Amino acid sequence: MNENDSEKLAGMLRQIGWTPAEKAEESGLIIVNTCSVRENADDRAFGNIGKFKTYKRKNPDMILAVCGCMMQQPEIVAELRQKHPQVDIIFGTHNLHRFPQILGNFIAAGEQITEIWDESDAVVEDIPVENKYPFKAYVTIMQGCNNFCSYCIVPYTRGREHSRQPERILDEIRGLADRGVIEVTLLGQNVNSYGNDLEIGIDFATLLRQVNEIDGIRRIRFMTSNPKDFTDDVIAAMAQCEKVMPSCHLAMQSGSTRVIRRMNRHYTKEEAIALVRRIRDEVPGAVITTDIIVGFPGETEEDFQDTLDLVRACRFDSAFSFIYSKRHGTPAAEMEDQIPDEIKHDRLNRLLEVLHTVSAQINAPFQDQTVDVLVEGPSARDASRLTGRTAGGKLVNFTGNFDDIGRIVPVRIDKAGTFSLTGVQTAAEAD
Ligand code: SF4
Repeated sequence: MNENDSEKLAGMLRQIGWTPAEKAEESGLIIVNTCSVRENADDRAFGNIGKFKTYKRKNPDMILAVCGCMMQQPEIVAELRQKHPQVDIIFGTHNLHRFPQILGNFIAAGEQITEIWDESDAVVEDIPVENKYPFKAYVTIMQGCNNFCSYCIVPYTRGREHSRQPERILDEIRGLADRGVIEVTLLGQNVNSYGNDLEIGIDFATLLRQVNEIDGIRRIRFMTSNPKDFTDDVIAAMAQCEKVMPSCHLAMQSGSTRVIRRMNRHYTKEEAIALVRRIRDEVPGAVITTDIIVGFPGETEEDFQDTLDLVRACRFDSAFSFIYSKRHGTPAAEMEDQIPDEIKHDRLNRLLEVLHTVSAQINAPFQDQTVDVLVEGPSARDASRLTGRTAGGKLVNFTGNFDDIGRIVPVRIDKAGTFSLTGVQTAAEAD
């Protein structure tokens, strides 16, 4: 969501005549788009702002703006103002669409501006977006979240759920397809509750089926999903719609029913495992990834063993695993039974060992197979090779034709690693 917001900021800036600078230190404007989901993201943002302040000392005309989830927290804005008075513009998540006006006001008056809205009533439409890739795009289908998981800051920084009208989403995707986009990722904090607030009888499964009908689009992805809202109808849509890719990110967070309850997430370990089984039964080759938090307040060794059990039973293709970090203002931050750091680190290491073992086992059968890969561009590790994603979303680095960037091509896998696949392109565009 944060990346998509940055693409919107870039789109709005392009529309009013700004172009990207080669180097940050030479630019006329730097925007730090912050994330609040974990403590280290907060720390990184403050570190970056400190670095950009030194650029501004050398180039006093440079405009420094800060936005994003951190700015929706008054105590952080106060700290920012005190530690970094050189910041010119502060704005929040709900008024991102107003950035061109705010920037214009700053340029006209030359005075610091802080403009933060507490809430927004609806999703603002028609914001220009500068997509990072010409052939794939994020499409926000809803904003905010109603779930209030006890560790999470998102409902406080992004507000309550607001779904976009389906015709606006479909129009946007048709427009993207006309411009050559072949892959869309439908975005929301909890896409599976899409439509609940619209009262027009649409749900996420129906939306998937409608997007599947759009000519030109070849791959449809979505994220993120709370297991409690992942319906059998969504599984059926995944199974029946040829363009909906066999992949989903199911944020499990813990395998302990007791911890899941304390997290205010409404499912049990058994229900989570049964859901993954249903997806794997119905959607052949489904790639299922997850998020796991270790060291949530009160997590016992027995609870942690339940998480390891869940990982072994669900056999996630990959996972983002995190050490629990307190988010100010959330119920979990006030819980008394916080876990000591050394226990959290020990559990994270043990979890990673199991996750990596499972990932290696799942990837091994790809050896010597040919997979269809959407070619994204040069590999970050070796610019003489290409990188791309399989239908399930697995990362592939391969030797191939640079003219095929943006196309789906067959790649024969010659090395199936734990975190990625390696191979050679075998032909031009796949059928
Ligand atoms: S569903 Fe996701 S975004 Fe919403 S409160 Fe829970 S963790 Fe946060």
